[in-house]
Amino acid sequence: MITRVKGTQDFLDVRLMNYLIAHFKKHLQLYNFTEIATPIVEPLELFQRSLGEETDVVSKEMFIIKSSDEEKEAICLRPEITASIVRAFIENHVTQVPWKIYNWGPVFRYERPQKGRYRQFHQFDIEVIGSPSVVQDAQFIKMLDRFFHESLKINNYAILLNFLGCAQDRADYRERVRNFLNRPDILPKICDTCKIRKDKNVLRIFDCKNPSCQEVYNDAPTIVTNLCDACMAEWELLQKQLQLLSVSFAFQPRLVRGLDYYSKTVFEFSSNSLGAQSAFCGGGRFDHLVSELGGKEDQPSIGAAAGIERLLLVMQARQEPFRLEELPALHVVMPVAKEQQTLALLVADHLQAQGLCADVFVDGDSLKSMFRKADKMGAHYCLIIGEQEQLDQTVTVKNLRNGTQETVAQRDVVAYLKK
Ligand code: AMP
Repeated sequence: MITRVKGTQDFLDVRLMNYLIAHFKKHLQLYNFTEIATPIVEPLELFQRSLGEETDVVSKEMFIIKSSDEEKEAICLRPEITASIVRAFIENHVTQVPWKIYNWGPVFRYERPQKGRYRQFHQFDIEVIGSPSVVQDAQFIKMLDRFFHESLKINNYAILLNFLGCAQDRADYRERVRNFLNRPDILPKICDTCKIRKDKNVLRIFDCKNPSCQEVYNDAPTIVTNLCDACMAEWELLQKQLQLLSVSFAFQPRLVRGLDYYSKTVFEFSSNSLGAQSAFCGGGRFDHLVSELGGKEDQPSIGAAAGIERLLLVMQARQEPFRLEELPALHVVMPVAKEQQTLALLVADHLQAQGLCADVFVDGDSLKSMFRKADKMGAHYCLIIGEQEQLDQTVTVKNLRNGTQETVAQRDVVAYLKK
């Protein structure tokens, strides 16, 4: 047996996923976002330059596709969508800002699979490219909160918030964290990877999954205590506006979000029904990514990615099930013998042409077995065509919900079923 690739999933029923996607799209439309689509394969360099070489995603988790002779540049399966959107913004010379767009689809990370962590998963990615105001951040977080809380009726989550300041603030902060790590009582306690990160890209130590490192970092300096005046004013304004918008959040001073491109606002939505992989949505500001990826000028931006699989887990944990869209009534056409199969095919075709949902049994099953199958399929009406019906140009219509049956002329059957 050929089995699926490790860390991937088969979805044999996508109704809940479709519900989530349809409602997300509807919600984003209310906030004036437009859907776009970008490729799943991208140049490897795009993520090396944007996420950063020292991040877990780029250093350990990329699905790299070997370059062929004619394709010199290495390509990869996208591990996230923000960088692709920024590339698309630059490459397509989008000039109208703020560019409020979203994209959803599969992303790939070579992680150790566990509940809520897959190697192929799906993200809903939402971005506002070219909007420097922190007011945008407040609106953005409120928009997500409203979707999770009001549209999906999820209420067992927390919004974790931090502020990473401007480039100068982060440079000062890196220095303070490095000094902290170099302390003789601290350095021996951290893992070897964190020791390397200390010298190469020190803020990445906060991504370390090692519990003993995490314990040490509880005492690490926080960035918000040393923000410059302008950033401090923005951080205070953000908190005030979120309060005015009735968004409850928890300040999380060590939230740095695993990727290098973030500046200023960072946030994560975290649910206690998810276990270890508790974050189901995360994002923040990336004020310099457009110019870092070759854009003519900086376009301060904010974005977020929501993990669809994790949202589905949170939705499934809800007590009250979601009311998924009802399927149209199914009509099953049953030829009693081989001789009626062609007529059955034509009757089913007529129903389908008139917008009725119909299936036809063409495998020569016994009547008993066809009824059993129709029942299992949840059919509403069975249209039985035997020798007599063929001769009389009728069908016997049996209502499987109440067991009644009637003989109806073939030419009247659509009107009868639509009644
Ligand atoms: P990130 O781009 O790492 O901030 O991830 C954004 C969201 O994607 C997270 O909040 C998760 O919901 C989801 N996510 C990230 N990695 C995985 C994974 N390996 N499997 C499933 N969902 C994931």
